[in-house]
Amino acid sequence: MEQSRLDQVSKLADELVIRLELKTPIDPFQIIASEKPFIRIRGGDLKNRCDGKLKYNKLQNLFLLFFNSKYDAGLPEGEHHSRTRFSIAHELGHYFIPAHYKYLRHGGESHPSSSEYRTKVQMEREADTFAANLLLPTHLVKPIIDKGITLKRLDEVARDFQASLLCTTIRAVRLSDEPCAVVGIRDGAIAWMFPSARLIEGGCYPGKETLDSIAVVERWDAFVDGDNERVEKEGMLPDWFQLFNKADDLAEVYVAEHYVPIRIMDTLVVLITVEDEDLFPVDDKDEE
Ligand SMILES: [Zn+2]
Repeated sequence: MEQSRLDQVSKLADELVIRLELKTPIDPFQIIASEKPFIRIRGGDLKNRCDGKLKYNKLQNLFLLFFNSKYDAGLPEGEHHSRTRFSIAHELGHYFIPAHYKYLRHGGESHPSSSEYRTKVQMEREADTFAANLLLPTHLVKPIIDKGITLKRLDEVARDFQASLLCTTIRAVRLSDEPCAVVGIRDGAIAWMFPSARLIEGGCYPGKETLDSIAVVERWDAFVDGDNERVEKEGMLPDWFQLFNKADDLAEVYVAEHYVPIRIMDTLVVLITVEDEDLFPVDDKDEE
């Protein structure tokens, strides 16, 4: 249910980019211009209050999109930090997702009778999904990711699409046909993880929280000590995933670990890639 809503939101963003024939990097201001006079945008330093806000103005019958310009400090006029771009794209999600639009037009009052009723948390997650998809549209990003998921390639995509590396990595894992995952380590434990569909198909599931591998704990300790180096290591599949009935078959499978410290989030991000043939041995079929 939840996932199908997010899929719908992704589709909505993709269709918008196609309809407006937007090119890389996607310009959220171009989208706002296309919705004139129904939406107006204004930037300002909102300090730490919030990154953005979308408000319906009943008197003028239009939406006002405010964004926090504090991340743009030091950038040339008219240029925006990837965080600003994400915030604007997020607010555009509240405008373009029909249920959010309705919600805001009715003064933000929820209407529990409607089947479209959403909680605040759900709405935020949907707007985030919309934003990531808008800035990194499927039809533009997937062909690049299909060449293979490497950190170098993700850096290039992040640069060309003016998205953050983390946002790009999560999108890439979602779009990838390869077995891969992105993991966030915080406070010495796995805080979150997104696996690719191919990884799940291979029998590897998220849900592990503890760091069982000494080598991984060492990387975390180095991060805590201020190490900002990107490091590539080799690890084992069971260090990262729940394997359930495949635990015996996959116990010896190696993974490539790409460590990317993201200091601003106090998070050590790890891109994990697995060889497809290790999860799906070709001679399996003959044996069974
Ligand atoms: Zn929001």
